[in-house]
Amino acid sequence: MQVSPVAKSVNFTEKLYKIFEKRKDISIEEHLLEYKKEKYSFLKISSKNIDSKDPVLLIRAGIHGDEVSGPTTIEQYGNEIFDLAHEKGVKIILYPLGNPSGFDAGLRYNIDNDKGDGGNNDFLRYELEDGSLKDDIGDGKIPFKRFMWASDSSLQVHLPLETQLMHKLLKEDPLNQVKGSIDLHQDYLTPNAPPAAYQYVAGNIQNYKPITQEISKICQVYKNQFIGAGFQTKIDESGNVVGNPLESEAIKSDEDGSIVRYDGSFTDLTYRLGVPYNVAVETTGVTPLDIACKVNLLWINGFIDLIKKHAKSD
Ligand SMILES: [Zn+2]
Repeated sequence: MQVSPVAKSVNFTEKLYKIFEKRKDISIEEHLLEYKKEKYSFLKISSKNIDSKDPVLLIRAGIHGDEVSGPTTIEQYGNEIFDLAHEKGVKIILYPLGNPSGFDAGLRYNIDNDKGDGGNNDFLRYELEDGSLKDDIGDGKIPFKRFMWASDSSLQVHLPLETQLMHKLLKEDPLNQVKGSIDLHQDYLTPNAPPAAYQYVAGNIQNYKPITQEISKICQVYKNQFIGAGFQTKIDESGNVVGNPLESEAIKSDEDGSIVRYDGSFTDLTYRLGVPYNVAVETTGVTPLDIACKVNLLWINGFIDLIKKHAKSD
């Protein structure tokens, strides 16, 4: 398969085709994102022949274009990840580059600087008991009546193009078979953070400890820390921090470096859809890239193991 000739040629997309071209057990779908400034290819890479009984691991990388460790992890370990998953009877649906134009230009958001109404990781809205809508219910103590996809037409939410496409593609995925969801990020926002790893989690989080223990052998786990990269962090169109939250508004990670937060993100959506294991992996921006990639890989491998165990006990 070739990169669409109308899309801007992006080195990374071409690399992905090369990395996976020899595999007979995966398929690559290419979609087009037509921004005002330029057209970009958006790839979805999936295990072939996903049977209706197969458990699926959903992986997304690079929704924030300046956070390169997720896509780099796929570039470096993509074949290893598919091999391991298939060996253990787990299928993969991978969105390797959620924001190709932002990645290409080194921007958090897309090349049109369209961050939508709620950023580009905008996936759901909660309707509270009084009928009001929220995209963030904190640690979940706020009661709500129901949740809706942010793309629900009744809501009239403006989503950036790459987010609209992701909503459309996810709705076509066998979501009832997805047993794990991993979203790969980096944190360039928390001020003065050392090299470290932490994560936003939802679902059966008591099972994540062995994974964070493995991570602690290669990277500091950012435990019991106030994370500045919260919703109250003010970011301009280019993704530069222009205002930090008050310490009282910052969220604290637990002893495993985990934060439970229902913030309307991809991770929150998959949790609400009933996926048992959900994580948004974060490494701080000063973490060396090779370490950040290894942290991402430990989460992916750890989730493949958890899904395999889960499938056995079903
Ligand atoms: Zn991010």
